[in-house]
Amino acid sequence: MMALSSKIEWTDATWNPVRGCTKISPGCKHCYAETFAERFRGVKGHPYEQGFDLRLVPEKLSEPFQWNSPKLVFVNSMSDLFHTAIPDEYVEGVSQVMTIADWHTYQVLTKRSERLCGLLNGKLRFAADRENIWWGVSVEDRKHGLPRVAHLAQAASTG
Ligand code: SF4
Repeated sequence: MMALSSKIEWTDATWNPVRGCTKISPGCKHCYAETFAERFRGVKGHPYEQGFDLRLVPEKLSEPFQWNSPKLVFVNSMSDLFHTAIPDEYVEGVSQVMTIADWHTYQVLTKRSERLCGLLNGKLRFAADRENIWWGVSVEDRKHGLPRVAHLAQAASTG
């Protein structure tokens, strides 16, 4: 992981080409994304009209291309990119955008580390070692966190 240079003026952005998720571990108990999304369930025309139900948002895929100046982009702050309900092809599409719109730095955090590891060693090989993409796992405690860190290390060591 690279340190952010103090010479660069960074602004933060969130990019959500997927909305919604389902819980997978105790760290999900107080999921802020769920609380936020559910507040708008049933609100006509709102991005979270369907609450926290998982859905793909393909019209958001090209969003990073519209940001001309470099941003630190939090990817899927309202979901988990490695959720099993998201097809490999879609995760590949998101990753292609990150490799092409490479003036941004992307931070991807997941609790689904096994799938992250599998894909980084497979279909996402092209994006695994990009300096502008930080692949990470969230660690809420030793029991759930350590296996995720091990998966991440496994993905990195084969690179
Ligand atoms: S994996 Fe993340 S986004 Fe999904 S329910 Fe858990 S805390 Fe929320």
